[in-house]
Amino acid sequence: MITVLRIGHRPERDKRITTHVALVSRAFGADKIIVDRIDEKLRKTIDNVTKKFGGNFEIEFGNPIQQIKRFKGAKVHLTMYGIPLEERIDEIRKFDDIMVIVGSEKVPRPIYEMADFNIAVKNQPHSEVSALSIFLEKLGREKKLRGELKIIPEERGKKVLRIPGREECLALLDKYGADERLKRHSIMVSKVALTTGRGCDCDDRLLVAGALLHDIGRTVTHSIFHGVEGYKILKREGMDEAIARFCSTHVGAGLLKETAKKLKLPDQDYIPRTIEEKIVCNSDTLLRGDKVVKLDEIAEDYREKGLSSEVPRLIRLYSYLVRKCHLDIEELLALNNEQLF
Ligand code: SAM
Repeated sequence: MITVLRIGHRPERDKRITTHVALVSRAFGADKIIVDRIDEKLRKTIDNVTKKFGGNFEIEFGNPIQQIKRFKGAKVHLTMYGIPLEERIDEIRKFDDIMVIVGSEKVPRPIYEMADFNIAVKNQPHSEVSALSIFLEKLGREKKLRGELKIIPEERGKKVLRIPGREECLALLDKYGADERLKRHSIMVSKVALTTGRGCDCDDRLLVAGALLHDIGRTVTHSIFHGVEGYKILKREGMDEAIARFCSTHVGAGLLKETAKKLKLPDQDYIPRTIEEKIVCNSDTLLRGDKVVKLDEIAEDYREKGLSSEVPRLIRLYSYLVRKCHLDIEELLALNNEQLF
């Protein structure tokens, strides 16, 4: 647990600096910031960012001396007068609980005495924002922050993906008249997807949204066109392409261009490409209704339906996830014994 203690906050003067200290704390892996003066506007700003961009970052207000006294872990005060960071970072990394103290104007003398470490990020005057970010980066406790908004890195543009939450997805299924069977199946896909995704680097929130919405097109048709219909529904609902694609890319192990053409499907991409699309597609494949079954049984279903040509690609996708996410079929089969709701 990493706590940042911000001392000397003056709401009327340091509004932006303290906001930046808090934003750096959250983005670089801290769990909590304690600010020494109550500032409800600051709390609102930080809570808003956390709500949108994810994580469980907390903001509290309290007396700094009492907070330091009460704190049981390593207390690291950042000051230009301290010992160079490089000389102490290995020792500091051994602690699970760390309080990082940063000042604003002159830091009171007792803080230097109470700290376990007085650390300089270069023995030159600069700023609490830079000192804190470099310290946290070197500490290396960054964690995944998954929220409603996800920035998609671009060379030049500004791309932000909005990922609907679980409740929003379920409400959308209801809006389009999804029956109990469809909802049970979609919820089970989300469980299988989350379990698979635990083994690799992927976005849980995206997995859940993709899993819950992948079959929304079945409210229109149960034919092979349900993927395209779902894609159209989600686009109409204003969802991002990345969300709508879960509908078009989950059929089979993704349809090849020639297959799509033969089936008279619109000319678009049906191949699952992102790790989340691959996981949702494979999770759906492994389910008969809301029950996980082994891949050889699914392959048999495909052969019986005259879809033998698709089987090697189903196996390739499955094997890819075994390698990439350590997919364990026994773990997925055990989900059958868990409560669905
Ligand atoms: N004169 C102040 C003092 O007595 O430390 C420094 C004011 S400085 C603008 C505000 C805060 O930035 C400091 O309290 C410290 O936490 C941080 N800071 C500035 N330079 C630093 C450095 N070289 N290394 C570590 N922290 C630094």
